[in-house]
This record gives sequence, C-alpha cells and structure tokens, in this order.
Amino acid sequence: MAVSKGQEAEKIRAAIRAGQFLFGENRVQEAHKKWPALRREFPQIELHLIGPLQTNKAAEALSLFDVIQTLDRPKLAETFAKSMNGVRTREFFIQVNIGKEPQKSGIAPEEAPDFHKFCAHDLALPVTGLMCIPPEGVEARPYFRQLREMAANMGLPQLSMGMSGDFDIAAEEGATIVRVGTALFGAR
Ligand SMILES: *Cc1c(COP(=O)(O)O)cnc(C)c1O
Repeated sequence: MAVSKGQEAEKIRAAIRAGQFLFGENRVQEAHKKWPALRREFPQIELHLIGPLQTNKAAEALSLFDVIQTLDRPKLAETFAKSMNGVRTREFFIQVNIGKEPQKSGIAPEEAPDFHKFCAHDLALPVTGLMCIPPEGVEARPYFRQLREMAANMGLPQLSMGMSGDFDIAAEEGATIVRVGTALFGAR
C-alpha cells in the first residue's frame, strides 16, 4: 500500500500512472478533500483508512474507504453495524495495540479474540484481518510474529503490518499488506 497522507494529488497521480492502485490515508477530512476527484479519474483505485476514527465520522468513513483498518472499540463497531446499507466499505481490519502502549489506539491483544467475535458474529461486520503499529525504537519482528499468530488463531487471512523502516521484516513475517509512505513518496 502507498500511504499518501500529506501528499499532493499530483504525486498521487504519478504513482497511479506508474501502476500503484492501493492507497492508505489516515484522516477522513484529508481523504474527503483529495480522493473523490482522483476516484473519478481512476475508478480502479482502492483506498483504505489507516488512522484512528472518531465515532461521529464513522458514516463519512464508510462512504470514502473500501477497507477500514482501524476498527478498535465496541462503540465504533456498533456504529458501523447500524449504517452498513449501501456503503462503499466492504471489509474491516481490527487494529491491535500490539505493544500495549497507552498513547496508541487499538484493542489490547488479550481482548482481541472476544472483540473479533463481537464484531463478526454479534454484529455481522465483515472482518477480514488485523493491523498493528509496533512500538518505535525496538525490534519489530517479535510484534509482527505475535500479530501473525493472533490472526491465524482467529482465522483472519489479512495482516497489515510494516512501514517504510521495517516493511521487509513484516513481509518475512507474513504481512499481506505493508503500508509504505516516505520510502515511496519522500518526506512529507
Ligand atoms: C504514516 C503511516 C504509515 C507510513 O509511514 P512511513 O514511515 O511514511 O512509511 C503507515 N501506517 C500508518 C498507520 C501511518 O499512519
């Protein structure tokens, strides 16, 4: 995935013309400004939300993103479940706070299996994967490995992990999507 937050439409167009079609944005407001016009130009592109979502922006996110990778709390899941008719979003990933960092969003690893059951069974949301952002400044591989094991135990095929600094390690550990911004576009 090319992470296009903070990048101008012209740079995004160049990436699409070069063959990139999967993109990630971390803010609803920014995606709303940039992507409707780009989608008209390039209907084949796929857009994922990779940033934290306020409940009051849930409906707008469902109209903008093909996949929402940051499902992280029961209140948000309940809000989605009430508004799924006719929306663009067709899959959700659960974001796991894999390093249990207080400042990071994501469900705690030990709560993830029950949260998955709640979303997929009780609310019938189409959950297909897990996503994480490991702690900075320490080796990421053990966290990637833990997320892969969690996804396997929960029967989820998609694993979104790895960024510019560690996407190669994430790929070795089984990532199905790596989220690469600066290594593709340069500094934001
Ligand atoms: C910005 C961002 C990325 C990309 O980070 P780079 O270091 O620029 O590759 C990946 N994932 C998330 C959730 C992000 O917010």
